[in-house]
Amino acid sequence: MFITFEGGDGAGKTTHLRLLAQWLGEAGYDVVTTREPGGTELGRSIRELILHGGDVAPKAEALLYAADRAHHIATVVRPALVRGTVVIADRYLDSSVAYQGVARDLGLEEVRQLSLWATDGLMPDRTILLDVPVEVGSARVGKSQDRIEAAGREFHESVRREFRLLAEKEPERWRIVDATPDVETVAASVRAAVLDLFDR
Ligand code: C5P
Ligand code: MG
Repeated sequence: MFITFEGGDGAGKTTHLRLLAQWLGEAGYDVVTTREPGGTELGRSIRELILHGGDVAPKAEALLYAADRAHHIATVVRPALVRGTVVIADRYLDSSVAYQGVARDLGLEEVRQLSLWATDGLMPDRTILLDVPVEVGSARVGKSQDRIEAAGREFHESVRREFRLLAEKEPERWRIVDATPDVETVAASVRAAVLDLFDR
């Protein structure tokens, strides 16, 4: 079972991924949590290059995310899925579609195809969009920690809009969770958003 969390910066992906993993773990499932970029040793070097290595041309950025993803899927995610483990990832290919494909204007379909090539077509069973208004997310983040967080308001609005469109286009895979309320309320919505996957 492969579950991914998507959403803008400050939506609470990391918190809710941890809470969901804990809840599934307590229910007896074998769970692995991971993230992109940076879910492997190679990925952590790539993450550093992308976020803190100075200027990166948009296509170079897209290729670096794809390289991170290819290695992450081949060495962490697929082996875990083969073992029957539940894998929960903090971001996956939809982040590339929204950030590089649309907000950076590299082309939604091109960027999606690049990711599908990089991962041999691995798609999540469920993707949870933690949706918050851009100003709520950026207030939670506080001072920008990296180059992308520091991008302008319009960039982040465009990312949010694209995530919502992607979710609406593929409703069986996606669940949109309003991530504005308190942590316990959102955590309950997240649990409800995956229940059908474990209910058979
Ligand atoms: O979610 P996380 O904080 O790990 O993401 C690191 C940074 O990379 C964030 O600023 C995020 O917006 C950005 N990012 C991106 N394109 C992706 C994935 C993440 O611009 N495909
Ligand atoms: Mg961040």
